[in-house]
Amino acid sequence: MDTKTLYISVNSSEFEQSEEFLRCTKDLRAGKLVIFPTETVYGLGAVINHEESLQEIFRAKGRPSDNPLIVHIGEMEQIWQIIERDPPELFWKLSERFWPGPVTFILKKAKGISETITGNRDSVAIRFPSNRIAQRLIALCGVPVAAPSANISGYPSPTRPEHLEEMKGRVQWIIETEPLEFGIESTIISLLEETPALLRPGPVTTEKLKEMIPDLIVKKGMTEAIAPGMKYKHYSPNAEVKLIPWVRDKQELAEMGIRMFKDLCQDGNSEQKKALICTDETISYYKNANIDCISLGPREDLYRVASNLFHVLRVLDKNGIHCALIEGFEEKGLGITIMNRVKKATSK
Ligand code: AMP
Ligand code: MG
Repeated sequence: MDTKTLYISVNSSEFEQSEEFLRCTKDLRAGKLVIFPTETVYGLGAVINHEESLQEIFRAKGRPSDNPLIVHIGEMEQIWQIIERDPPELFWKLSERFWPGPVTFILKKAKGISETITGNRDSVAIRFPSNRIAQRLIALCGVPVAAPSANISGYPSPTRPEHLEEMKGRVQWIIETEPLEFGIESTIISLLEETPALLRPGPVTTEKLKEMIPDLIVKKGMTEAIAPGMKYKHYSPNAEVKLIPWVRDKQELAEMGIRMFKDLCQDGNSEQKKALICTDETISYYKNANIDCISLGPREDLYRVASNLFHVLRVLDKNGIHCALIEGFEEKGLGITIMNRVKKATSK
């Protein structure tokens, strides 16, 4: 397949009139796959009423068929194409507060929603993204769009146009844009039971959610994920990545990193390239020890760290790194989300 690429700036006010964008929305509606930006990660979309196209998502990604998809809407009205007419009262309160935005809700599905989307469940995952390109694409297409992250299954999610190279030839369209607002997958909350439960930590932190849902069920540490798809290998580059356990003192953390780096890949070939993923606070310690390191950004700006994480994991492979270490983060606030992804990336 000859993939067409289209660049749209999020600040552009005229993209909706562009002929290419309109062709892309028509192709999506007709059952072609389209990669589009959201505020979390790039999504690989297919309309929910085109069975063959939905199945093509799983083939294009190599995704296990029992890992259900999140359905995205472009305007609120589209929820009725996906869920039952009587969602819990809390859904209205939460969607008013967090939508459009990086929160996914699990609700009872409407009749007729494909089992390919839900993995044979009675429930469906639904999100209203805030990214304008995603919103207009889905609204103009007229049908909600099922879209997992646009990466080969198991690999880190794509957050920059260069990460989409591997999908060329597998989809009809790729819409590229500037760096994404969050660069990490949505928070998932199940509203199926009386008490809501957090299934995957994301950009909206547990602390923020608890302001509105004091009794929210959060599994301890939240690193043992409970969303069905989280049992699979995830966010892993080809490089072997090991965790430097977090300690508050930056010098102590760096000293541990330097010690661990010396032991890294000891049984492997000494020619193999190694690297260390650190933060702005510790980078000078590693540089002084002549360690090849890449920073995720400053710890005081965990949103920046989160949005750099998948890119930096991909850089390891791009640079032919064989083993790497990554510094841990305090499991608090967005640190819970970051550590959820880091722990998956470091588990083989
Ligand atoms: P991805 O789009 O690749 O970030 O993954 C979507 C996540 O949503 C996976 O972890 C799925 O297991 C989860 N998910 C999708 N639908 C449901 C559902 N009906 N119930 C519970 N989790 C779901
Ligand atoms: Mg994914």
